[in-house]
Amino acid sequence: MIKKTNSIVEVDLSKLKNNLQVLLSNLDADTEVMAVVKADGYGHGAVEVASTLEPEVDAFAVNDLNEGIQLRKQGVAKPILVFEVPEKSTATQYRVHNLTATISAQEHFDWLPNGTSYHLNFDTGMGRMGFRPEEAQRISKIVKDYDNLFCTGIYSHFATADQPGSNFVSEQQKLFEQVIGYFPSELTTHVANTGASAFYSNNSFDMVRLGIGLYGYPPGETSIEGLAPIMQWKTRLVQIKSIVANTPVSYGATWKAPMDGYLGIIPVGYDDGLKRGLSGNVQIQINGSRYPLVGKVTMNYSMVFLGKDQFKPGTRVDLFYSDSDAWDWASKIDTIAYEILTSVNTKIPREYIL
Ligand SMILES: *Cc1c(COP(=O)(O)O)cnc(C)c1O
Repeated sequence: MIKKTNSIVEVDLSKLKNNLQVLLSNLDADTEVMAVVKADGYGHGAVEVASTLEPEVDAFAVNDLNEGIQLRKQGVAKPILVFEVPEKSTATQYRVHNLTATISAQEHFDWLPNGTSYHLNFDTGMGRMGFRPEEAQRISKIVKDYDNLFCTGIYSHFATADQPGSNFVSEQQKLFEQVIGYFPSELTTHVANTGASAFYSNNSFDMVRLGIGLYGYPPGETSIEGLAPIMQWKTRLVQIKSIVANTPVSYGATWKAPMDGYLGIIPVGYDDGLKRGLSGNVQIQINGSRYPLVGKVTMNYSMVFLGKDQFKPGTRVDLFYSDSDAWDWASKIDTIAYEILTSVNTKIPREYIL
């Protein structure tokens, strides 16, 4: 993979550990924790995030089988649940790498090789993968028939837990309780994501699956006290030029300088994850002062109006900082912090702060 050198993503691993403690403070002491590190740890680097958290959590979850294999190859030893739907052609890999599969359809029982561990997934309202609750009794019989495999857990996923007070969360919770009634009590039960663990009581289940909160963000509009974003994104001014009032900038010539001053160019564009929809809608920070991004964001460059302030090429620019982070960007373009974080191009080097 060709690395980009135009910007740096800094990931603060001590804040990561602190975010885990913040989320744990809302839970019963005996609740087990599965750290969700899918999508390369929400863009932060799955291996480093998992290695940092391994002493303090009980298990990990990834989306793809290959993400699980990568964690094993890098020495992660705790259980790893793979969310994705198994494929017949790669099903042997679960056993080879000691990964826990997700079974959500009957054929999966046939595909997984002897000795594979798995969790069952039930769809209690998410409307995505999973058996229907009405199938619980039938599936419980199949689980007994396939005693060549190890069923170690059973889970479901909430659709509306990103905000407090959703009735649909309680409905899903009730359905899940009915489902698990058909299965042996030794199975690890889990349904809560970050939102459910922070905003709802889930004491009746064994484990929570924490994702976005670990990375320092709440799942929706409602904040979670004590979390701190762990990703910083930094670049440099590559060029500065004087610009006279009324000079247009970037594609479409839609923005014009309001006065004589300076224009800074940063080597970060939508290919890097600085969404084009943020054109004219974001301020970056240089030496503690804020400057507006102006004109359209281009594929590899964006422009900043510096007013009368003069800087040297190479001056550091903060793209994310205290009150302009992934959450603020997301709210400006009607998306969620998850999408902003996972859009930061993985070719940009990650630097880890301990
Ligand atoms: C992504 C995901 C999670 C984690 O959700 P967060 O809102 O990031 O905490 C948990 N469970 C499943 C099945 C997921 O896909």
